[in-house]
Amino acid sequence: MNEKYREYQARLQKLGDLSSAIGLMHWDTEVYMPKGASPMRSRQIATLSGMAHEMFVDKDFGNLLDDLRNGNDLHPEQQRNIELSHRDYHKEIKLSTSFVEKLSRTVSAAFQAWEAAKQEDAFAQFAPHLEKLVELRMEEAEIRGYSKHPYDAMLDLYEPGLEVDFLDKTFQEAKDGIRQILQQLDLSIDTGRDAVFHQHFAKDKQWEFGLDVLRGIGYDFNHGRQDISSHPFSIGFSPLDVRVTTRVDEMDFANMCWSCIHEGGHALYEQGLPVDGYALPSGTAVSLSIHESQSRLWENHVGRGMAFWNHWYPKLQAYFPEQLAKVSLEDFYRAINTLRPNLIRTEADELHYHLHVIIRYEIERDLFAGSIKASELREVWNDKYASYLGLRPPDDRQGILQDVHWSHGSFGYFPTYSLGSFYAAQFFASAQEEISDLDQQISLGDCSELLGWLRKNIHAHGRMKDPADLCREVTGEELNMQHFLNYCSTKFKAIYVPE
Ligand code: ZN
Repeated sequence: MNEKYREYQARLQKLGDLSSAIGLMHWDTEVYMPKGASPMRSRQIATLSGMAHEMFVDKDFGNLLDDLRNGNDLHPEQQRNIELSHRDYHKEIKLSTSFVEKLSRTVSAAFQAWEAAKQEDAFAQFAPHLEKLVELRMEEAEIRGYSKHPYDAMLDLYEPGLEVDFLDKTFQEAKDGIRQILQQLDLSIDTGRDAVFHQHFAKDKQWEFGLDVLRGIGYDFNHGRQDISSHPFSIGFSPLDVRVTTRVDEMDFANMCWSCIHEGGHALYEQGLPVDGYALPSGTAVSLSIHESQSRLWENHVGRGMAFWNHWYPKLQAYFPEQLAKVSLEDFYRAINTLRPNLIRTEADELHYHLHVIIRYEIERDLFAGSIKASELREVWNDKYASYLGLRPPDDRQGILQDVHWSHGSFGYFPTYSLGSFYAAQFFASAQEEISDLDQQISLGDCSELLGWLRKNIHAHGRMKDPADLCREVTGEELNMQHFLNYCSTKFKAIYVPE
């Protein structure tokens, strides 16, 4: 192997070791750390993050990348790794240390203000912090550069190449399509159906069932583990150690079950990344939206499907005979697919969910265009909820203060949630086409061929293809909203159109 390439690889792998240590500290913070340790832990994470940053932006590393780019003895995968690292390097060195420090101070203050404002239900306390964050991020957009819209520079941080033009078009199509589907449904049919979940479901049995389901979809406990945390997440330190967390609410079975499958979907992706690409682009997930496509595919297309519960429902009934013996599979299926407009994004159903995301997207876009001000956002938010979901938030806690993202200064993140669902629908449609008896396999409890398909077509490639190219190669076309709309239309008409 090229001596310089070997050096490049060694450097990135060292960085990967450092990132894994940081990740492990984050994991511990959420899972085991005693509360009082928090100030020291922040310090420890900051020190290691600073070291990682310095290692990465080192001029020698930049020169090494240039040398490798100018050479001509690399094979295509190596070339692609170098190209992506070069891209990452130039993204990282654009911001001065003083700017990064200023941003991080502003974020700390904003996060505290958001927590207090949420507690006191007073957006006005958070608004000035939000304004400062947007200002700084706009400054950042100017430093990073963009072709049309300053918000493009934010989108690119989470989804390389994603732009306002594309999202405007895609989200308009989604809005129209979702409205059209909703117009054809009679949501009044469902009254009280999902009440079945709000009985007492003992914690230890829920936990055991969650583990069974994770094993059932192919999550490898030899290279992973599940723990409890207040906000479920998944985290991978390498494909050999990918962990998930869940939370258990004894009065809400749904809470544990689908967050378990969702995080399991993320984890299957990370467990399927090539081990020999550790810390290199070839061993890293493509983008947030493709990551989310994997969690949504398992959570919704598999985990809210009739085939899946054909196999799993009798097992669940055996765990909870008192609660479920008298509930038919058919009623259970309808319960897990209840549609109801609501105020909280994270509790939204599969269809309304995207209206929540689109509201946030439109607000962020307009903030960065300078056409609205942070101080006006409460009105804007509430009006949009009234118009898109037919509900006006009674307070800020259930309204504009519900998400943590803005307090972290994260703008451009929300759209990847919806794109993830749209990609998931398209990927699943392709898998169904290529695996003719997929439904039957799933209803027998066998998800292995589906997982194999995802491994081969998506997981194994790491970042070797950009999201759009990956989608085209796997499904034969670009991201096409119609797959998601068809899936929702078929599924929900069967439930919500009276016979
Ligand atoms: Zn997710």
